[in-house]
Amino acid sequence: MPTTLPRRGALRLLPAFLLALFVRPARAGDPRLSEIWRCGGGDCPGYEYHPRDGDPEHGAPAGTAFQDLPADWYCPRCGAGKPDFRRMGD
Ligand SMILES: [Zn+2]
Repeated sequence: MPTTLPRRGALRLLPAFLLALFVRPARAGDPRLSEIWRCGGGDCPGYEYHPRDGDPEHGAPAGTAFQDLPADWYCPRCGAGKPDFRRMGD
């Protein structure tokens, strides 16, 4: 085996290493974070939950998938529960 191979291998890993520095933790690749959930509460002015942004003021840190919200989480606008929410695009 030629002696240059190990060095070439290390160079090949460099881009992946640099990429890892800029890519956020594994959760960033979760497809559920791209979903938009809209409140279907009858009196709701149209609240939408965006998992990437979350709703930090209402107990949902940014990056929290809708499915991972507590079961007793409710719409901060109208108080409707999670079952009243609908995923956009379905
Ligand atoms: Zn609502």
